[in-house]
Amino acid sequence: MSNTQAAWPEGVIARYITVAGVAIADPELAVEITYTSHSGWLTATCRGCEQDEDTETHGRLDDPPELEAERVEEALPAARTWAQSHAEKCRAMPRPDGAR
Ligand SMILES: [Zn+2]
Repeated sequence: MSNTQAAWPEGVIARYITVAGVAIADPELAVEITYTSHSGWLTATCRGCEQDEDTETHGRLDDPPELEAERVEEALPAARTWAQSHAEKCRAMPRPDGAR
């Protein structure tokens, strides 16, 4: 079985294709949840319309990696809920010139 899927961008931990992305079969039209280490926030960004939503992880700068990972896991369901509901209704299309 060959893997023809493109790698996810750096820092992306979850992706939800939007209804527009499904309609034109473009997996890049997605809501992506990203986390930057020690930022304290999960960020869900729609690549169709650029709307975004931050979810606080309540992380602290001195958190050891295990605790940081735990905080991200705890905050993830809320970020997923926003990403899922946004992806279900977002019909934003990419501009024909390729700019997002
Ligand atoms: Zn959108």
